[in-house]
Amino acid sequence: MRVGIVGAGIGGLAAAAAFTRAGADVVAFDRPGAAPAGAGISLFSNGLRALDAAGVGEAVRALGAPPELPAGIRTPRGDWLTRTPPSSTADLRVVHRGDLHAILAAAAPAVRIETVAEVRTTADGAAVVFESGQRHDFDIVVGADGIGSRVRSTLFDDPGIRYAGYTAWRGVTSEPVQVAEVGETWGRGERFGVVPMADGRVYWFAVASAPPGWPVPDESVEVTKRFASWHPPIVELLRATDPRMILRNDILDLAHPLATFVKDRVVLIGDAAHAMTPNLGQGGNQALEDAVTLAALVADGADLGAGLRRYDSIRRARTAPIARRSRRLGRIAQAGSPVAATLRNALIRVTPARSVVRAAEKMQAWQPPEPVSVRR
Ligand SMILES: Cc1cc2nc3c(=O)[nH]c(=O)nc-3n(C[C@H](O)[C@H](O)[C@H](O)COP(=O)(O)OP(=O)(O)OC[C@H]3O[C@@H](n4cnc5c(N)ncnc54)[C@H](O)[C@@H]3O)c2cc1C
Repeated sequence: MRVGIVGAGIGGLAAAAAFTRAGADVVAFDRPGAAPAGAGISLFSNGLRALDAAGVGEAVRALGAPPELPAGIRTPRGDWLTRTPPSSTADLRVVHRGDLHAILAAAAPAVRIETVAEVRTTADGAAVVFESGQRHDFDIVVGADGIGSRVRSTLFDDPGIRYAGYTAWRGVTSEPVQVAEVGETWGRGERFGVVPMADGRVYWFAVASAPPGWPVPDESVEVTKRFASWHPPIVELLRATDPRMILRNDILDLAHPLATFVKDRVVLIGDAAHAMTPNLGQGGNQALEDAVTLAALVADGADLGAGLRRYDSIRRARTAPIARRSRRLGRIAQAGSPVAATLRNALIRVTPARSVVRAAEKMQAWQPPEPVSVRR
């Protein structure tokens, strides 16, 4: 089967690796100059299982495991609102995005650098048309071109993207920093997250409610000023980060779920299909799930239509509630008024930590489907 993949981000590369592993003839395309943005990415047990199915789980685990530490949510003064035991983070892996890309790329066929202008459905498949006007025909085309997906906007009933009301900085310390816990600190309209990596460096993120496109003269100065009075080790982490490596993104998601991820022989995965806010750290993990599910259901090429319909139905049912929960969590976490933040904190204090852990475990208890060829 000939598979064309538009976009070689996390989802596109994972699909390329999974289809290649299943014996398909795969070509992935990306734009010139697209490099994996810095900072870390949290992988949970569902994402790791998907990486296993793509054949690269061991390589990712070999990057090492961070120390098991207590997790939870604190106030800016450092008081715990909720706290879970170290075992609750046993399956969490935080890797540098560049490392994840390199591992996935090594398992995928070489990426062709060519910007895709258009994808067309054809009588017996789909075609990718480049900006140069050249065209390449496939049995299926996978739209893995991210949140601003051109495949989605040209072939699907695109709901568009919306701003969540907050912007996020991300960074990784240049050297190891000793931290005693994993987790977030919630203030009023502001949040800070600390996630240690296997090599002792620390991935951090900071979130602030702000107007869309808010101009900031110096991101490092702004984030340091905002969180200067927050509990240790926040200031230390910011000081240990190269200011040139601090990223900022306005947080966006799809305005509402797509009615379908499939149009004839064109299929969407990852952010192109279901861009979600990062509050649950699931966008990339879901892109990985999509990629290996799609390969398992259609790579043998026996009944493409049935495989695509099944992919569409199980992945929409899986991703829509996660996107909804993620957005809701962001609204709660970003509570801005003193009354709303006090109520939120009181609610967290009375919610048993066990129930939070159980809900996360349930979400991460995903298993990849067996490849169709194995089930026959
Ligand atoms: C602040 C923040 C923190 C996050 N943290 C986490 C986390 O901890 N865990 C997690 O799982 N997720 C996280 N996410 C979400 C995660 O980054 C995304 O869900 C994930 O990158 C989506 O992967 P993708 O392959 O679908 O899209 P992308 O990674 O966006 O890749 C799309 C690719 O398509 C290419 N492309 C686009 N248009 C074209 C074209 N016309 N022709 C050719 N190529 C094209 C692009 O160059 C790009 O390489 C976070 C997101 C943000 C903003």
